[in-house]
Amino acid sequence: MAWYSKGVCFTCKGCAHCCSSEAGYVFLSAEDLKNIPSFLSISEEDFLERHTRRVDMGTYYQLSLLERDDLSCEFLGKDGRCGIYPVRPLQCRTYPFWPYLFSDRALLEAEKANCPGIGEGRLYSESEIRKMVKDTLVDKLVTIVK
Ligand code: SF4
Ligand code: SF4
Repeated sequence: MAWYSKGVCFTCKGCAHCCSSEAGYVFLSAEDLKNIPSFLSISEEDFLERHTRRVDMGTYYQLSLLERDDLSCEFLGKDGRCGIYPVRPLQCRTYPFWPYLFSDRALLEAEKANCPGIGEGRLYSESEIRKMVKDTLVDKLVTIVK
């Protein structure tokens, strides 16, 4: 039985901490690579060149959005809102329902220090959580063989 079989509460408080507080990666899925350039009205090539970086994962690369010198995501607006919210990446849409964070109750508990929405508000059922965890698995993300 999964440790989250009775569900987990989460409601985003809109604090933007996860978009700005520390160095990190916003990895992109194949779907993100279509949706975001379309939303920005630029070509996929332009998007790749101007807004992404390759992250060395050892035997392969993954694509991540760029971040600013202050460590905020380049799509975070001055108003604290996501500038590409309707097409925000899979990784952003499914946070905090990530495989790593749900692999152990203690990891999600520790994540509360980064996100005030975990443990608050709407109750997500085990089946909803399983779907989002599955959606965020690494095989949905773009990988580039070295
Ligand atoms: S840290 Fe949590 S509450 Fe704050 S914006 Fe991110 S998901 Fe929402
Ligand atoms: S794409 Fe939007 S939701 Fe995702 S990290 Fe950037 S600003 Fe935040």
